[in-house]
Amino acid sequence: LFVTFEGGEGAGKSTQIRLLAERLRALGLPVTVTREPGGSPAAEALRHVLLSGAAERFGVRMEAVLFAAARNDHVRTLVRPALQKGGIVLCDRFMDSSRVYQGATGNLEPDFVARLERVAVDGVVPDLTVILDLPAETGLARARQRAGAQGNDQPDRFEKEERATHEKRREAFLAIAAAEPDRCKVVDGAAAQDLIAARIFALVEPLLAN
Ligand code: C5P
Repeated sequence: LFVTFEGGEGAGKSTQIRLLAERLRALGLPVTVTREPGGSPAAEALRHVLLSGAAERFGVRMEAVLFAAARNDHVRTLVRPALQKGGIVLCDRFMDSSRVYQGATGNLEPDFVARLERVAVDGVVPDLTVILDLPAETGLARARQRAGAQGNDQPDRFEKEERATHEKRREAFLAIAAAEPDRCKVVDGAAAQDLIAARIFALVEPLLAN
């Protein structure tokens, strides 16, 4: 079972992934928690390049290629092997982040993004994608608070972007959910943490029998 978590910065993905993983493990189920960009040694190396700003010189199109290369390595070395062993894989961001960050707000041609996606995922598509939805303002405030709380006053370059961009991304995530309602479920990220966790578990539980 492959479950991905999507949403803007500060949407609470990592907290909810942790809570879901704990709950599934308590049931004795084998859970792998991973993230993108990254999740495998080669992809984590690319993550560093991509998030530090070192990849900016490549331009948006070639950056998208690097995200795809990272995703493909992650899929081949970690995600697919875990799924083949019957494990549950919970992934913080996946292909929808590329559709949104490189596609919608990177202004790349949808065709190019779609072709890269097919090559990157190599047939491994999430059974369920949880989209944590939050007004851009709330997400940004949370992300800033987190950066401050960690003593990190230098958020990565993506997090420095404007509210309008965040709002555009929110709309893009919601558009994906509307286009693929079977795979994608929107969960209100502004609700209480345990309520969100319960809603997510209710989405996952029926899939556990498969
Ligand atoms: O999940 P998290 O918010 O930590 O994501 C790390 C960063 O990577 C985000 O700030 C996001 O802007 C960026 N990202 C991206 N394109 C992707 C995936 C992540 O720009 N496909």
